Amino acid sequence: MSAAEVLRDTHATLDVARIREDFPILRERVHGKPLVYLDNAATSQKPHAVIDALVDYYTHYNANIHRAVHLLSTRATAACDTARDKVRRFINAASTDEVIFVRGATEGINLVAQTHGRRNIGPGDEVLISGLEHHSNIVPWQMLCDEKQARLRVVSIDDRGVVPLNEFEEALSERTRLVAISHVSNALGTVNPLADMIQMAHRWNVPVVVDGAQAIPHMRIDVRALDADFYAFSGHKLFGPTGIGVLYGKKALLEAMPPYQGGGDMIRSVTFEKTTYNDLPYKFEAGTPDIAGIIGLGAAIDYVNDVGMEAISAYEHELLEYATAAISQLKGVRIIGTAPNKASVISFVVDNAHPHDVGTVLDREGIAVRTGHHCAQPVMDRFEIAATTRASLAFYNTREEIDALIAGIRRVQEFFS
Ligand SMILES: *Cc1c(COP(=O)(O)O)cnc(C)c1O
Repeated sequence: MSAAEVLRDTHATLDVARIREDFPILRERVHGKPLVYLDNAATSQKPHAVIDALVDYYTHYNANIHRAVHLLSTRATAACDTARDKVRRFINAASTDEVIFVRGATEGINLVAQTHGRRNIGPGDEVLISGLEHHSNIVPWQMLCDEKQARLRVVSIDDRGVVPLNEFEEALSERTRLVAISHVSNALGTVNPLADMIQMAHRWNVPVVVDGAQAIPHMRIDVRALDADFYAFSGHKLFGPTGIGVLYGKKALLEAMPPYQGGGDMIRSVTFEKTTYNDLPYKFEAGTPDIAGIIGLGAAIDYVNDVGMEAISAYEHELLEYATAAISQLKGVRIIGTAPNKASVISFVVDNAHPHDVGTVLDREGIAVRTGHHCAQPVMDRFEIAATTRASLAFYNTREEIDALIAGIRRVQEFFS
């Protein structure tokens, strides 16, 4: 089914007015105006179900996991195990052994760089990334390449913000040891043709690390259908708590990797002479994890499943088209990032107005957008700008909110004309 067909099919089931009631923060007022929250690519808001799961854990069964036979600890341990299986099903991983809890996408990518990367990359080798990447998917590879005298190779983006597939393919060679690529760009909204890219890399036997931070809240992710080797994302962008995220990795790769950090829970036995490590996934989870965060992430996944990811994608796609058409009609406003396949993000610049000032004027209208380089300075450099204003959508946003944004941009233009 096409997105439009899914939408026709599901429109009636995505009751946005009802959904908005699940998010208490959406009733807040900002500078006396109703909050219009369009900064979902930075972090998303939390439904009652997630907030309640956190309160319930701290109120009724707060205890450390894996350590005690007492009832509270048993309950907390079971809740974390259940949440890990919810993640497994959500991304269609083969086993919960392949689901590592980390702090977020950033830590997930660093984990791969510091373990798989340090073990497998040497002088003269290449790590291939794209010109679309978030700093989280650039800097860990730069650090690794510096340490190993390897080369960080970048496939540039075109004027629309697309990574040309032929150039990506040509950049792969026998020197490539690893590909690290975002699924969806947080700065421009570009959706990469990930399955094709992964296939191309696999022809060279090169594993692919996917930065999925910006894809996971907007589309159904199937790590096995994609054949991704690693897939990292953050809970807080998926309507869950901050401080928790996931690194998916194929079991064979994870088993071959040395541990990331040393400490409790990641060991089987410790003497001063020798330590043996725990099985997956615990080998990579040193210390007490973010138990409340794990439970909250599980609740967020339940919530998203209830709404329905296909319905979310279809609704957001329609909203993005509506917003793109409306912003395109404004004179003196230019959209940055015009890839044919986009998700959830509209970056733009307004003639004669610095993005920071645009953001400040919009804030006075109650509209929350992000302004700046969006942790993707090379993307800004590519378009020869310092910053953009970015509106990023979630399934609780409405056409009325887009209309408010358009009215807000008109105010900005009056201000700076
Ligand atoms: C937000 C984001 C990250 C970093 O996520 P953290 O939660 O800060 O670790 C990485 N990549 C992309 C594309 C993002 O949008």
